[in-house]
Amino acid sequence: MKTYAIATIPGDGIGKEVVPAGQEVMQALASGSSQFRFEFENFDWGGDWFRAHGVMMPEDGLQALRGKDAILFGSAGDPHIPDHVTLWGLRLKICQGFDQYANVRPTRILPGIDGPLKRCGPDDLNWVIVRENSEGEYAGVGGRVHQGHPIEAATDVSMMTRAGVERIMRFAFKLAQSRPRKLLTVVTKSNAQRHAMVMWDEIAVQISKEFPDVTWDKELVDACTARMVNRPATLDTIVATNLHADILSDLAAALAGSLGIAPTGNIDPERRYPSMFEPIHGSAFDIMGQGLANPVGTFWSVVMLLEHLGEQEAAGRLMRGIERVTADRSLHTRDLGGTATTADVTRAVCDELVGAR
Ligand code: ATP
Ligand code: MG
Repeated sequence: MKTYAIATIPGDGIGKEVVPAGQEVMQALASGSSQFRFEFENFDWGGDWFRAHGVMMPEDGLQALRGKDAILFGSAGDPHIPDHVTLWGLRLKICQGFDQYANVRPTRILPGIDGPLKRCGPDDLNWVIVRENSEGEYAGVGGRVHQGHPIEAATDVSMMTRAGVERIMRFAFKLAQSRPRKLLTVVTKSNAQRHAMVMWDEIAVQISKEFPDVTWDKELVDACTARMVNRPATLDTIVATNLHADILSDLAAALAGSLGIAPTGNIDPERRYPSMFEPIHGSAFDIMGQGLANPVGTFWSVVMLLEHLGEQEAAGRLMRGIERVTADRSLHTRDLGGTATTADVTRAVCDELVGAR
C-alpha cells in the first residue's frame, strides 16, 4: 500500500471551507482503496498568520513542503491586506520556490450545469488552458521612482526567457498530443508587443517541429476571447503567457458555468518538487463562513492531483462521482442557482465514492 504525503494549505476565506471538504473526499477515496492512503499535514498560513507574524508563511515554509507528494491549496486573499502582499507572500512564493512553471486549467461544461452560452453543448467546450507560470508579465521585474511627485513613474516589465518559453511550449505541445483532437492554439500579442511576443511566436514554430502530429494555430489574445464565445468548438488545448492565460481562464471558467467549479494545477513537470492543486476562485469573503462555497472546483483539483500522482483509476472514479452529483440540480450551490450547501455537496460526492447513493 502506497502512502502519499499531502500538504493542505486552506489559506483564507472560503479556502478554509473547501480544502477540508477536499480532504474529506480524499479520505473517502482512500477508505475504499487497497492501493493507497493519504497522510495529511495542514499548514495554517495566510491572512491570520500574517496578522500574528507579519508574513504570510514562515521563512522556512518551503522546507516543510519540500518532501510532500503534492499540495492542496485553498485561496490566499484578505480584505485587510493588500492583494499583492497575500499573493506574493504565499501562493507565488510556493509556485516560484518549487518552479511550478506550468499552470494547467481544464474547462468543461459538467452535466447539469448551464453555461451562459446558448447552443453550446458539452462537446463544444472542452478545453485545457496552459498558463506560463514563472515569468512573463508577472516576473516581478520593475520599479517605481519619485513616489508622490508629479514626475512619478512605474514599470512592470514582462520578462520572457528563451528557456522559459521553450519549456512551456514543449509542455503544451505534449499535452495537446495526449488529447484526442491533438489540437493546440498558441495565443500571442505579437502584433503590438514586438519583442518578447515575437520570440514567443518563433519558439512556437521551432517546438512544433518536434510534434508533427499536433495541429496548431496562432491567435491574438483579443481575438481569442471572441473565439471562445463565438466558436468554442474550434479550441482544444490553449497555451498563453502568464497574464493572458490568467484572463482567458477566468473567461473560460465563467463560460463553463461558475468560477466555483474550475480547478487548476501548478505543476513542476520535471517532478523535482511537489506540485500544487487549487480551485481557481479566490477567498470570496462575501460568502465565507456560511456554507455557501461550491467545493466542486476543489474536488476537480483533487482529480488533477490524483492524475499527477499516477492514480488514474481513482482520479476517474472521483470525476465520475463529481459529474453524477452536478447532474443532480438539487445538489447545486447558490453560485449555480441552487440552495445546496458545501456540506451537502461534499456528502453526496463521498456517498458516490463509497457506493451509498
Ligand atoms: P480574491 O480576492 O481572493 O480573489 P474574491 O473575493 O475576489 O477573492 P473570487 O474568488 O475572485 O473572490 O470570486 C468572486 C465572487 O465569485 C465571490 O465574491 C463569490 O461570490 C463568487 N465565488 C467564487 N468562488 C466561489 C465558490 N467556490 N462558490 C460560490 N461562489 C463563489
Ligand atoms: Mg478575485
